[in-house]
This record gives sequence, structure tokens and C-alpha cells, in this order.
Amino acid sequence: MDLKEKIEGYVNLRVKEFGGKTSISYRDPKVGYSSALNPLFKELKKVAHPNHLTPKEILGNAETVINFTIPLSLRAVNENIRGNIGSYQWAYEYAYTNVLINFLAREISQLLARKGFKGVPIAATWNWDEKTLFADWSHRHSAYISGLGKFGVNNLLITEMGTAVRLGTVITDAEITPSFFPTEEYCLSKRGIKCDICLKRCPVHAFENWGGEGKWKCYENCLKTDEKHRERIGYVVDCCGKCISDTPCATSIPKPEKKKLV
Ligand code: SF4
Ligand code: SF4
Repeated sequence: MDLKEKIEGYVNLRVKEFGGKTSISYRDPKVGYSSALNPLFKELKKVAHPNHLTPKEILGNAETVINFTIPLSLRAVNENIRGNIGSYQWAYEYAYTNVLINFLAREISQLLARKGFKGVPIAATWNWDEKTLFADWSHRHSAYISGLGKFGVNNLLITEMGTAVRLGTVITDAEITPSFFPTEEYCLSKRGIKCDICLKRCPVHAFENWGGEGKWKCYENCLKTDEKHRERIGYVVDCCGKCISDTPCATSIPKPEKKKLV
């Protein structure tokens, strides 16, 4: 069994086990790989934030970036359609999937260590600067480079399992062949098909000025979810997800609606 098969078998097994323990019906996870030298990583200092790190700034002899997606359950997506803040099930899955991502990233690093390689797990979330809300590592951009998805107009990643997914990263000095990088766009609006549903679903109109106050409006709304559900769940649940529930790309790559034949 090669390293890829071992990592993927491990991710599938652990997601299933963890889903059983937490009663979360996760959909199928996926793993993607990219070269740590992919020039797109350097571009992230311009595209994401000047403080965004490159794989080699995290691990000097990095060869590969391993990304994985964990799609939330259909129940979480459906129960998050109504209301202006994250539903209980959405918040519950957000919290426990963060635990799972940190656990998986650590265990993948340990698996690599047993094979004689180094692996650096990246935290699931809260690695951002409180003054700017920018993180020094973007799982979304990294997963994009690993071929796991394409960006929608809301700047979220549309994966094979849609946008309702959580993401993780491990950086390693093991050399692993990069995954296929799809060139076509997945987002309907980007394909010239009328949509923009994600933008309209935001209860605080954050996308109208995302680079300015929009990001902060989004965060404030996520804190309202935390205020409502943290005590019952027992973890920080600063999330919302209205822009990735009840959209054509929430759980799969969107297909244009077929016109009815009359
Ligand atoms: S809801 Fe529509 S416009 Fe928004 S990301 Fe999905 S496909 Fe693109
Ligand atoms: S941008 Fe998305 S996550 Fe943020 S408040 Fe709007 S709908 Fe919620």
C-alpha cells in the first residue's frame, strides 16, 4: 500500500468512526495533494494576505501539501436554511468537525513520522489575526491548489461535495504526486449562468463590501450563533453558513437548471 492509499484509507476510516461517535452523518471525505513549490502558494501573499505563509516558511524542506475535505451532513445543511444565524445542528457539526480536523491532521503527521517523514498539522481554525481577521494559512486556498475545488463568487470553495465542507491541511517533506487540477469553473455565475444566490442569502449583506466592513459584519453575525449555542455545545461556535446552505452549490458541483419542455 503506498503512502497516498494509507492516508486516504486512514481519513475515510476516522471520519466514519468519529461520525459514529458524534451521530454526524458525514458525507465522503476527499484528500488532495499539491507540490509545496507550486508557484500559486507564493501568489497567496498577494491574493489572500501579505502575512500568508508559504509551505516552506512552515516546514523548511516541505515537498507536499496534503489537504482534506470533510463534507458536513445533509441534515446540517437542511436545518441551516432558515433563520439568520447558524442552526444548532450546523453549530454542533462545526464544533465537532474542528475537533476532528485537528485530530486527523495530527494523526496524519504521526503516520508520516512512522514512515520516516515530517508532517506539520495546521490548526482547523482560529489562526487569524484578531485585528484584521486574516489567517496566516488559508485551508480554502490551499485546497484549491490541491485540486479539491474551485472558488465561487462568494469566495468559498465549491468541492465535489459542495461548499458545505470543512477543510484541513498537513505540510510534509514526503514527496507525493500532486492531484489533478481541474481547469473548468464550478460556480454558475462564473460560468455565465444567472445565480448569485449565495450573495443574496447573507442576512447582513456582508458580500456588498467584503474587503471593508463586510468581513466584520460576517464575524459579528457568527458571534451571535456562538452566543446562542456555545453553552449547550460546549465549544466556540462562531459560524453561520447561510451562504452555503440552500444554494445550488451547497452539496455538489452545481448543474444549470434544465428548462422544462412544453
Ligand atoms: S450560489 Fe451560485 S453564484 Fe454562489 S457560488 Fe454557488 S453557484 Fe456560484
Ligand atoms: S457571509 Fe455567509 S457566513 Fe458570513 S454572515 Fe453572511 S451568510 Fe453568514
